Amino acid sequence: MTETTPEGRAGLSMRTRLAAAGRRPSEQFGYVNTPIYRGSTVLYPTYADLVARTGRFSYGTDGTPTSRALEEAWSELAGAATTVLTPTGLAAITVALLCAVKAGDHILVADTVYRPTRNFCNTVLARLGVETTYYDPMIGAAVAAQVRPNTSVLFLEAPGSQSFEVPDLPALIAVAQAKNLCTILDNTWATPLFYPPHAAGIDIAVEAGTKYLSGHSDLLLGLTSANAAWAARLRATFDAFAMCAGPEDIFLGLRGLRTLDLRLREAERQGLAMAHWLAARPEVARVLHPALLSCPGHAFWKRDFRGSSGLFSINLKPCSTEALAAMLDGLNLFGMGYSWGGYESLVIPFDCAAYRTATTWAPEGHSLRFSIGLEDIADLQADLDAGFARLRDTP
Ligand SMILES: *Cc1c(COP(=O)(O)O)cnc(C)c1O
Repeated sequence: MTETTPEGRAGLSMRTRLAAAGRRPSEQFGYVNTPIYRGSTVLYPTYADLVARTGRFSYGTDGTPTSRALEEAWSELAGAATTVLTPTGLAAITVALLCAVKAGDHILVADTVYRPTRNFCNTVLARLGVETTYYDPMIGAAVAAQVRPNTSVLFLEAPGSQSFEVPDLPALIAVAQAKNLCTILDNTWATPLFYPPHAAGIDIAVEAGTKYLSGHSDLLLGLTSANAAWAARLRATFDAFAMCAGPEDIFLGLRGLRTLDLRLREAERQGLAMAHWLAARPEVARVLHPALLSCPGHAFWKRDFRGSSGLFSINLKPCSTEALAAMLDGLNLFGMGYSWGGYESLVIPFDCAAYRTATTWAPEGHSLRFSIGLEDIADLQADLDAGFARLRDTP
């Protein structure tokens, strides 16, 4: 067997590339996988080598064969020129933003972003002299009216965090390109398998590897990828922080990569089965799942995305908070907790009204977000069915 290169794999399908990307058995004594390299110091054989910094690695913060393997594999999958690995998904977002802004800039951030992204803009970026305007991502090309002479970034997330509306990404990207803004996309929900970011024109894409890349709720990891125009700037910003991910988490990320397609397809199947079942429930007012007609922006999802993952929300018909608590507290299979993308099903109540500023979030009842895991669908439905009975029985 000869080792292939990313270029040599260009014509192969994503499934095939997921199996081969980032692997170099010839450099690992023939072992299939790159092991966990731990280390700070890298030794140079001679004075001349030290001065010239020859060799592929120079110091722990500069990367190891383990981190390089995942970076190379992710760049191949995302269609990126480079990828850096951060300790968390949020760190991947902050390094992307800090790579693109300077004091005095103005940035446009989707009102529906992951809430900690908003917190970073409102606190750290504000302190550094970067002003943020939140825009309604569903206005599409009309966002152009909010671009100022000093606007430098258009930050996108699709679908919206918790509320799942799908914006017209090509229209937003076209505005950014016409106005010379850096586009940053939080692509965690779709992953490059369901939305290849850089082919779509995104400059910098962010993935919380904590979610589907891990798939097991057992690690924290972020991946920030950039196209050729932004690669050097991203790498230099990352190097300046040395905000490196841990070797064990990177190794588990690489391991997760090999089954990512398989797990995402199953998450899609499971998520759709539960979303359709919930849509038919009398207690449910609306299902917010990009692949369902009831979701704002469904037509954009259908046009631009290759699939849907297992994370979506519902609006319940009006009920008391006690009834909601009775439903959630008795669930046996759905855990209540943050994060998502693991093999186990989760549910959380949420309310976007408290913090959004450019959009209105005013459903009549409570809202729930589900991450559907790999359990049997009939068992999951029976668990929720009993929960809905408790909800109905509680005044
Ligand atoms: C979870 C999440 C993040 C942050 O990932 P962490 O590893 O938990 O920091 C970023 N964006 C989205 C959309 C997420 O769901």
